[in-house]
Amino acid sequence: MFKGLLITQEDKKNLASVVELNEDQLPEGDVLVDVHYSTINYKDGMAITGKGPIIRSFPMVPGIDLVGQVMKSDSPRFSKGDFVILNGFGVGEKHWGGLSERARLKSDWLIPLPKTIEAKHAMAIGTAGYTAMLSVLALEKQGVTPESGEVLVTGANGGVGSFAIRLLSRLGYKVVASTGRMAESDYLRSLGANEIIDRDYLSELGKPLQKERWAGAIDCVGSHTLVNVCASTQYGGVVTACGLAQGMDFPASVAPFILRGIKLIGIDSVMRPLEDRIEAWERLGELLKPEDFATISHEITLDDVIETAHALMNGTVRGRVVVNMKP
Ligand code: NAP
Repeated sequence: MFKGLLITQEDKKNLASVVELNEDQLPEGDVLVDVHYSTINYKDGMAITGKGPIIRSFPMVPGIDLVGQVMKSDSPRFSKGDFVILNGFGVGEKHWGGLSERARLKSDWLIPLPKTIEAKHAMAIGTAGYTAMLSVLALEKQGVTPESGEVLVTGANGGVGSFAIRLLSRLGYKVVASTGRMAESDYLRSLGANEIIDRDYLSELGKPLQKERWAGAIDCVGSHTLVNVCASTQYGGVVTACGLAQGMDFPASVAPFILRGIKLIGIDSVMRPLEDRIEAWERLGELLKPEDFATISHEITLDDVIETAHALMNGTVRGRVVVNMKP
């Protein structure tokens, strides 16, 4: 027997509790993993609190990310004892996920843990840090360099935002952070933000074309914020969109696209091909230093997950949460 967080549904309400499970209950897969660490992303917060329709079938073990050691493998890609990472692929939504001491998974979803990253640091990074890296890679691939000008990060105190600031700063970009929590300015500066702006400047309906400021932007919140970010991006600049913390809508004008030639790049981490995942994780291993993780993340246990998921949805969690499955 082992412990896991199980979500059931009664009268259309999600009920989450930590329960004892056994291996026979685990879904099909060719690799059995002893989970060392997991994490709570925004999506997990929505699944656990029931604030978003994330879970496709009940009962479900949430957790879109995990790192652990292979216990049994029917795949030639992995052997017993290998450390593996999983991010996304519908795990924690359609297939039982990482907030459990054991997980049975498809080998096609797994990548090896890079030698440069410790297991618990991989979950401090999680889907949030990996998405931040995919966003930074997208800016680089579109030719945005530190010399191009300022890069804006929205949803700065969140998991994606925090890692985006750290990664951009380490690469030498001048970073402006947009946040609703100006009281956390010291934290954002410690990550490498050069300037902090109140998110209210971006969150309301604005003009279709505004003063050109950003050479690049990493947007985590969508809605009017993303529209205003596009409207204030420099001629030929690049904006990445990964999130919907403000809203899923995009009430925009085509003006920045057809008059300034800006580019909007969508970032999906969930179904990303393995080669892109491996590239992103290798770059994370090169760019992040052990001291980054103490600033950005804090550790909890499986028993704290439900309370922390509610705090995440209430916007009171800063940075990233690592769930230690073997405290
Ligand atoms: P998170 O840790 O909860 O951070 C979200 C941040 O957004 C908050 O910390 C807050 O930052 C800001 N925010 C919250 N409500 C807002 C509002 N009403 N208006 C404007 N800003 C608001 O979440 P995360 O893990 O960083 O994820 C960020 C977003 O990216 C989420 O929407 C998530 O679903 C999405 N995501 C997508 C992918 C993908 O594959 N596309 C992958 C990972 C995450 P401040 O307090 O600093 O304002």
